[in-house]
Amino acid sequence: MDSAGMTNSLLHESMEDVYEDVPCGFLFTRPDGTIVRVNRTLLAWTGYERADLTSGRRFQDLLTIPGKIFYESQYFPVLRLHGAVKDVAFDITRLDREPLPVLVNSVQRSAPDGRPSLIASTIFDATDRRSYERELLLARRDAEQLAAVVRMSSDAIVTTSPAGVVQTWNAGAERLFGYPAATVTGTDLRNILSNGEDDAAWNRLLAEIRAGRPVYHEMVGRRADGGPVDVSVGLTPHPDLLGHLGAISAIIRDIGERREIERLQQEFLAMAAHELRSPLTGIRAHAQLMRRRVTYSERGVDAILGQTDRLARLIDDLLLASQIEADRIDLRLEELDLVLEARSVAEHHGVEGVPILVEAPGGPVMVPADRVRISQVFANLITNAVKYSPEGGKVVVRFGQTSDEAWVAVADQGIGIQREALSHLFDRFYRVPEAASRAPGIGLGLYISRRIVEAHHGRIDVESVPGKGSTFTVFLPVRRGTRG
Ligand code: ATP
Ligand code: MG
Repeated sequence: MDSAGMTNSLLHESMEDVYEDVPCGFLFTRPDGTIVRVNRTLLAWTGYERADLTSGRRFQDLLTIPGKIFYESQYFPVLRLHGAVKDVAFDITRLDREPLPVLVNSVQRSAPDGRPSLIASTIFDATDRRSYERELLLARRDAEQLAAVVRMSSDAIVTTSPAGVVQTWNAGAERLFGYPAATVTGTDLRNILSNGEDDAAWNRLLAEIRAGRPVYHEMVGRRADGGPVDVSVGLTPHPDLLGHLGAISAIIRDIGERREIERLQQEFLAMAAHELRSPLTGIRAHAQLMRRRVTYSERGVDAILGQTDRLARLIDDLLLASQIEADRIDLRLEELDLVLEARSVAEHHGVEGVPILVEAPGGPVMVPADRVRISQVFANLITNAVKYSPEGGKVVVRFGQTSDEAWVAVADQGIGIQREALSHLFDRFYRVPEAASRAPGIGLGLYISRRIVEAHHGRIDVESVPGKGSTFTVFLPVRRGTRG
């Protein structure tokens, strides 16, 4: 062999190596798909021996069922028509039945007479590419989900540039402030949040954020209608790829309701403290008086006991109200004569100057009820009637009964209740302002009474004429488990 021949044969050998071992599969098939040649790379990828594939196997039989259908109905006709097909994705089923995602490029070779003679295909492993595509797809889905969460969130979620210029403004922000996104994006968030007044505070927040620290602050924002809105603002810095501050996200919440609750709690504490303190002051005064006179005084002891009762009642009411809030009223039902109970309560709650008349019917008025609780209802209604009546006003307790329910009415000739107040009367801690200045109380009596009566499946009605008097009527079912 001459040196040129030698070179040629070496070249041919190394071309063979290249053909066998390049990092892509080579496959030659007849026009019907029968495999005639396959390189080592493809064998290694699929796990087959060369003889497995070149003894009459067709390429399409290596594909999954959908792949095979696609090959025969689409791929092959297009190849016929155009002579070449590029980058079509298939899954080859490997010897171990695992799928191998691939991209296939084919060209069709023709015999001198023009008839197709051979299909030459290059096959690329698409495992990595598929997983990138999948990751991209998942990442995109995550991003879209997150965007949807932000869009739908009831909290205001806003993003700004590092300088505080609004970039995105969600529906929650539109609802909270009343500005549509279009008017706010591109403007400084401080115009809305710091109300234009407290620039120093706003700048301090931005400085914290620029130092990479998230901040939380409560401030007063400005709504589109010009009104103020109490908000909490959580600002979070978001660094860009280089680690510089790229954007700021702000989650803004309406804390108006919380502020209102705080105000009510404050008011309640002040009122409860006042109501608890005045009987204590009374007790102390009487005790001091007795000590100074160094004698036992019947009146003093009575007064002390009276005030102690008042304190105990107050504390009981507070405890019962909190139990009611937690939905725990345990009833001990027994057959109860309402006339008897009302009479006994009236005897204990009479005061001088306001007589209580119990207009007993001929016989008892029996209902299944909890004695302690129902007495408490009567006590609340009767003390109210007495408390909100002038001297000489008469309180009358009446009874009645139908086949389903019994009723007890407590009528007074007192100050009456304005129509506007009627719908709040049974609310926790509600007191009509004029009444509040006239008599002590914390606004729990009617709330508790209504809940007790409702626990018995009954109801309380009120009728009132301001300046003339009020009538509270309790209806209770006469049989267990029936609604009045
Ligand atoms: P508490 O009973 O807790 O000591 P209170 O009497 O003020 O305090 P409720 O019994 O719940 O509270 O009554 C609520 C309010 O309804 C009262 O403050 C008063 O303004 C009004 N009210 C209740 N009963 C009468 C009545 N008979 N006449 C006029 N106003 C009444
Ligand atoms: Mg009361």
